[in-house]
Amino acid sequence: MTESADIIVIGGGIAGVSAAYELAAEPSSVLLLEAEDQLAYHSTGRSAAMFILNYGPPSVRALTAAGRMFFQTPPEGFCEHPLVGPRGILAVARTGQEGGIEAFVAEGEGVEAISPEAALAKVPLLRREYLAATAYEADAREIDVHALHSGYVQGLKARGGRIVTKARVQGLERRAAGWIVETTAGPFTAPVVVDAAGAWADEVAALAGLEPLGLVPKRRTAIIVDGPGEACDSSAWPVVADIGDNTWYFKPEAGGKLMVSPGDETPVPPCDIRPDELDIAVTVERFEQAMDLPVRRVEHSWAGLRTFAPDGTLVIGWDPRAEGFFWLAGQGGYGIQTAPAAARLAAALICRNPVLRENQGAGLDAAVLAPGRLIGSIS
Ligand SMILES: Cc1cc2nc3c(=O)[nH]c(=O)nc-3n(C[C@H](O)[C@H](O)[C@H](O)COP(=O)(O)OP(=O)(O)OC[C@H]3O[C@@H](n4cnc5c(N)ncnc54)[C@H](O)[C@@H]3O)c2cc1C
Repeated sequence: MTESADIIVIGGGIAGVSAAYELAAEPSSVLLLEAEDQLAYHSTGRSAAMFILNYGPPSVRALTAAGRMFFQTPPEGFCEHPLVGPRGILAVARTGQEGGIEAFVAEGEGVEAISPEAALAKVPLLRREYLAATAYEADAREIDVHALHSGYVQGLKARGGRIVTKARVQGLERRAAGWIVETTAGPFTAPVVVDAAGAWADEVAALAGLEPLGLVPKRRTAIIVDGPGEACDSSAWPVVADIGDNTWYFKPEAGGKLMVSPGDETPVPPCDIRPDELDIAVTVERFEQAMDLPVRRVEHSWAGLRTFAPDGTLVIGWDPRAEGFFWLAGQGGYGIQTAPAAARLAAALICRNPVLRENQGAGLDAAVLAPGRLIGSIS
């Protein structure tokens, strides 16, 4: 027998589980389908786990700000430990790149220009000659992504939602009663499908006969290297981010390690992405240019996909071309920090609940996020 639900969510990354959790709070049955045998295997399990208010276009900043309370005060019983911890951002620029710092300070909320000496007091192993201008955002946070994701999963189950893994969606057909969703785990039906398939969101839409919105997955590389060890305690260092034309950054990790990224954005087809050797070499080179800390060994490396709509803004809303098809895609480099607000907005729009929409979506302009803005614009 074909299993049915009121709403089927496609994708078990942070977007899918957060939306499914919010939808399950409404009087509707929710089924989440994930292609892999584990959830959060792709982008969600590969992020830098930061919450940065002053990051991304205005719509992203609005979503991030709207979700801040969720991170600070999650619902009762959602998690056992805090979802966020302090981790400031130290923005640095080399000679000739000072304009980046000026713009960061002018446009950012709670960002202050600080002297290179003050920056060195925070991260003493930075090379003084690298620092032409510096600024500090104290209010950034580090997210416990595992706690966030599993809080949504456990909460979804507690609300009666179901999760099926190894269920890759392979066909979507609209009939009078709703969608027939063909998967590797068999068929399912629902009047509403939510496309939260990350890098594959356009491919999933194509199964429903929809032209793509032009989502582009972009590879981002990360490596783990040794920190300074006993020479210097790096555990309380901020994230250090170059905001000149090289957007590399590094971030303290557990065990005295550092995560370093070259800030690459290479367009690639959706796939189980691996890092490129050249990108790893560039990462090491940029790090050593800025830091008096030679990289003796790359302990671990990985890459993940950050998937962007052509205008860099998330895609949240009904597809006007297909009844019951809802987009939750294009999370780019902000999918973790925007998840709580994006999920609540998606649930409000899906349930056509104006009260929820007003309360939870405060300050968000749903029209800016709607997929209709992208339809017909792709050549
Ligand atoms: C190196 C790096 C650093 C980052 N740092 C940050 C950060 O500091 N802060 C932040 O907020 N964001 C960050 N991001 C971005 C963030 O990780 C993503 O925006 C977010 O994880 C996207 O979540 P998602 O659920 O849309 O995608 P995913 O986690 O990729 O989930 C999509 C899921 O859909 C499934 N799927 C695909 N096709 C099908 C199908 N046909 N049927 C069923 N299931 C399907 C996939 O298997 C996958 O599990 C970073 C990303 C990277 C790579």
